[in-house]
Amino acid sequence: MQVRIPVSFPYEAPVSQSLFERASAVTPGGVNSPVRAFRAVGGTPRFMVSGAGPYLTDADGREYVDLVCSWGPMILGHSHPEVIAAVQEAVSRGTSFGTPGAGEVELAEEIVARIEPVEQVRLVSSGTEATMSAIRLARGFTGRPKVVKFAGCYHGHVDALLAAAGSGVATFGLPDTPGVTGAQAGDTIVLPYNDLEAVRAAFAAHPGEIACVITEASPGNMGVVPPLPGFNQGLKDICSDNGALYISDEVMTGFRVSKSGWYGIDGVRPDLMTFGKVMGGGFPAAAFGGRADVMAHLAPAGPVYQAGTLSGNPIATAAGVAQLRLLDDAAYEKVDAVSAELRALVTEALAKEGVAHRLQAAGNMFSVFFTGADVTNYDEAKAQESFRFTAFFHSMLAQGVYLPPSAFESWFVSTAHDTQAVERIAAALPAAARAAAEATE
Ligand code: PLP
Repeated sequence: MQVRIPVSFPYEAPVSQSLFERASAVTPGGVNSPVRAFRAVGGTPRFMVSGAGPYLTDADGREYVDLVCSWGPMILGHSHPEVIAAVQEAVSRGTSFGTPGAGEVELAEEIVARIEPVEQVRLVSSGTEATMSAIRLARGFTGRPKVVKFAGCYHGHVDALLAAAGSGVATFGLPDTPGVTGAQAGDTIVLPYNDLEAVRAAFAAHPGEIACVITEASPGNMGVVPPLPGFNQGLKDICSDNGALYISDEVMTGFRVSKSGWYGIDGVRPDLMTFGKVMGGGFPAAAFGGRADVMAHLAPAGPVYQAGTLSGNPIATAAGVAQLRLLDDAAYEKVDAVSAELRALVTEALAKEGVAHRLQAAGNMFSVFFTGADVTNYDEAKAQESFRFTAFFHSMLAQGVYLPPSAFESWFVSTAHDTQAVERIAAALPAAARAAAEATE
């Protein structure tokens, strides 16, 4: 994809550029996760060397206010002293034992205590593993093959779930992924988001064949597109009526939008849930859990196999437990307040320049769509003028604000985003809004 970078922006990042060249020689596209590359917006990805509170510092020594927060996990900001201390204490005792450990029990207990529908939980190392394992369990439990997912929802790079996915798949406009066979995708039914009629029709067309419906609890991977009132409850009811499981993917929303994630906001009770990001405190830790009678089918208690050499890693669980214990009501109030303040500032700046936009939020997650209409599904998200985002993004970057390098991703804030950080963002917004207004395709 050829992307035009507005020429007026200072864009030198020589150390990042040289690291990117070295990376590109040894790693496909120079990155280890596609959306980190600046393919959608053009330019040189910034190689970060350190993070403190709301700030990241790149290899060229430039400091940015971070609105990515590692794609969600860093809800307390970077290098939170208590999380770092917990990690240092854990690492001083060893890095991996391949046996059960107390940290796993503590993290599982934290999750079960916060999220009432989760009676039992299994720890894994990534959100992808969590959703992959949850759908395997749903298939094993129901004895049915098919999975319903929604266009624009991203559940990690699970073969069966990559069809019409959000996040990097949306960013790069990939219709499908080579390497996923017809057999792997053949049991996946992709439906438009927020369309209960389509879900009813799918169940009518495939009686007794659908194991589960998996949905982002509130999607953040096609930009932020919350469920319309009654949508999640409708999914739950349709699943219950048809003997299928309702899987709520809270990898992004879990422990971020409230103490008990999106479940804490809409109260719709899933059969299974998936988690990641915040629960690992910046380390690879994720989980899936839910109804005890379903989880009982998982090995070694039951026949559905699932395993992981580093699952429940002691450093990751120590970081996760420390982070979750710090996330009290006051912490969520702080994150919600910063999010509301930033949303108001972004809206004001874009409105002042007459830029058609919709700022959509789900709890404290939010994103901007460059369109004049509300966005309720993936087709509407794709219809936005993303070239305006490109100009907006580069202006913010040049002024020291690091946004997700894609118009199809949520922005994230933390408890560490203080007045000074917000003021720096506020100062950058007028020029960025002007750049968006002046952008041409
Ligand atoms: N599910 C959702 C909703 C996500 O947002 C993501 C990642 O962004 C995943 C699953 C996959 O998680 P991971 O990248 O840890 O594999």
